[in-house]
Amino acid sequence: MNTKAEGDLRDGLSAAEIFENREGLTYNDFLLLPGYIDFTADEVDLTSPLTKKINLKSPLVSAPMDTVTEADMAIAMALCGGIGIIHHNCTPEYQANEVHKVKKYKHGFIRDPMCMGPDNTVADVIEAKRKNGFTGYPITENGKLGGRLIGIVTSRDIDFREGHPQLSLKEVMTPIDNMITAQSGVTLQSANHILEKSKKGKLPIINGSGELVALIARTDLKKARSYPNASKDSNKQLLVGAAIGTRDTDRERLKLLVSNGVDVIVLDSSQGNSVYQIEMIKYIKKTYPDIQVIGGNVVTRMQARNLIEAGADALRVGMGSGSICITQEVMACGCPQATAVYQVSSYARQFNVPVIADGGIQSVGHIVKSLALGASTVMMGSLLAGTSEAPGEYFFSDGVRLKKYRGMGSLEAMENKDGKGAAMSRYFHKETDKHRVAQGVSGSIVDKGSVLRFLPYLQAGMQHSCQDIGARSVGILRDMSYSGDLRFMKRTYSAQLEGNVHSLFSYEKRLF
Ligand code: GDP
Ligand code: 5GP
Repeated sequence: MNTKAEGDLRDGLSAAEIFENREGLTYNDFLLLPGYIDFTADEVDLTSPLTKKINLKSPLVSAPMDTVTEADMAIAMALCGGIGIIHHNCTPEYQANEVHKVKKYKHGFIRDPMCMGPDNTVADVIEAKRKNGFTGYPITENGKLGGRLIGIVTSRDIDFREGHPQLSLKEVMTPIDNMITAQSGVTLQSANHILEKSKKGKLPIINGSGELVALIARTDLKKARSYPNASKDSNKQLLVGAAIGTRDTDRERLKLLVSNGVDVIVLDSSQGNSVYQIEMIKYIKKTYPDIQVIGGNVVTRMQARNLIEAGADALRVGMGSGSICITQEVMACGCPQATAVYQVSSYARQFNVPVIADGGIQSVGHIVKSLALGASTVMMGSLLAGTSEAPGEYFFSDGVRLKKYRGMGSLEAMENKDGKGAAMSRYFHKETDKHRVAQGVSGSIVDKGSVLRFLPYLQAGMQHSCQDIGARSVGILRDMSYSGDLRFMKRTYSAQLEGNVHSLFSYEKRLF
């Protein structure tokens, strides 16, 4: 670390100096200068606050968008130490059920196993295997999860029966008397032990009335990894957030979310500095004092002040910087993201209110830059879209495997024709708005594989970046920024070109 005497040796500018003349800067407009390394990258601690009361082991949040976060994404985010915010472009019941799935998730347990009834046929299993890829189906009286378990069919019951597609499952299944089951409440460890001893491939979990509540597959136990950094509440359930609007009807939605165990509420508004949001923050803090409330979006200190005074436990910062976003172009309103993050964070820290840098994150470098500017966490949409945990089916275009990614203010999302119910209100007020004004676009993103592989890459990348800077933790990185020890340097346009790959005829860019 530099002492005063060494002051002259500090190159570049402090954060305060780089934003001194109040220009609108983006993440690409500057770099962080390297520091001194006396530790290994894996020692870097990524712990950072999401809100006043919630700390995450990894400063990563998935955006409340209907092509990014439902239960699968939220589970993966929490397992890796971050958190997912379930979108609200759906009915309250649908959203609450997604929250429920995250809170009830137990690693290694299949919580919603596909079941069949005794009158289903061998043909049904063959067809289901074609669709789902597995052949193990518990048989319950009513053919559904929650029904009384009476047997199971696995590949060994179906092998050699292809010639008899109409045989009913009650004739081919392994009946309950010959099965090994476990009672609900069993730990993964003892379930593991039972499977090991019994040499079976599936372990159905039943309650006291013999009704099926979950299933464990031997294949999953074999590949089960542990997630020591998982974000958990005091009951050891995964943390999850949910987004809502600020209308009166959202109070009912909120009630349902709270009764399903939601930990954090995000008030989803593109311009959060409104009387509606202020009233909603006060209402939530009074009615549900244990729920953490994230206000936003804001990009100026004046906006931030009102939400902090109302009681917000964190602020979501960004207006018009998202990849699918056309707000700045259409509404002429917004703020370049690096400036927005710096000015709101440097103000909010006086009140101990953490900031989420939301939108415009395209790389590990952008994440570290936003943290260096004072953000505590980053919220990502496009970076996580296209992964197998993002909602939606893959499709092919010109031989490339893609998934849809769309702005919540795109006409397509506002029209919401995909059957999840109520269209959301962030960008369109049904009662008052006569004409829709799109603030986002709809597009597609290349298949990125599982987020359970992608998040560790982001984390390792952040650790290496902090190591280059000489910061042993995200907290130290922020402190260095405010003390002036972290040095920033503006990049001219040609400096940006120089910093990218150049002078090659062709190249392949594989990141992990
Ligand atoms: P099977 O013997 O053909 O059922 O297949 P395996 O047990 O080898 O693999 C099934 C995989 O599918 C495991 O990774 C399960 O976690 C996964 N899976 C997801 N949902 C279900 C489900 O509803 N039933 C079953 N049997 N497996 C599921
Ligand atoms: P990304 O990570 O893709 O750059 O940005 C994601 C963020 O963009 C979201 O968290 C949200 O704040 C914002 N966003 C999502 N949909 C829209 C939209 O339709 N219009 C605008 N202006 N912003 C959007």
